[in-house]
Amino acid sequence: MPRPRRPRRIYGPPRFRHFKPVGVPRRLLDTVTLTVDEYEAVRLADYEGLDQQPASERMNISRTTFSRLVDGARRKLAAILIEGKELRIEGGDVDFAHTLQLCRDCGDEELRETAVADEGTDTDEACPACGSENVEDLALAAMRGRGGRGRRQGS
Ligand SMILES: [Zn+2]
Repeated sequence: MPRPRRPRRIYGPPRFRHFKPVGVPRRLLDTVTLTVDEYEAVRLADYEGLDQQPASERMNISRTTFSRLVDGARRKLAAILIEGKELRIEGGDVDFAHTLQLCRDCGDEELRETAVADEGTDTDEACPACGSENVEDLALAAMRGRGGRGRRQGS
C-alpha cells in the first residue's frame, strides 16, 4: 500500500504559469506540465543556487527526493527549450507558505503568508493599492490545473 505523501513545502506560487514558443502553430505544439514542486526545486537549486541539502529542507523532503525532483524538472525544461514545447506550471501535492495576490486593475502585487485559518477565504480581499476587488490569488491559480492537490485548492 502506498504511504501517503507529505505535501511539499513551497515558498510562493509561480508568477508566470504559461510559456509558449513564438511562431509555432498551436496545433503543432506539445504541452509539458511542470508541477509546482518541480518549479520550486529548479528555483531553489538553479535560481537561488542552493545546495541540495538546504534546498530539500526548505521543501520538507529528503535530499534523495529533492535530487530526483530537480533532475526530472531539468529534463523537462531541456526538452521544452530544444524541441519547442508549450510549458504550463500547475498542480502537484504542495503546501504554500506564501501566496501572491495580483491586482488585475493596477498591477499591484502583495506577498502574503498563507495561514490555515484563512484557507479559501482570502481571494475576496480588496487591492490595498487601488481598492479593486479584481484580485487574483496566484497560489490558488497554480492549483487549478489537473491533478492539483494543494492545500489552497477548492475554495
Ligand atoms: Zn489594485
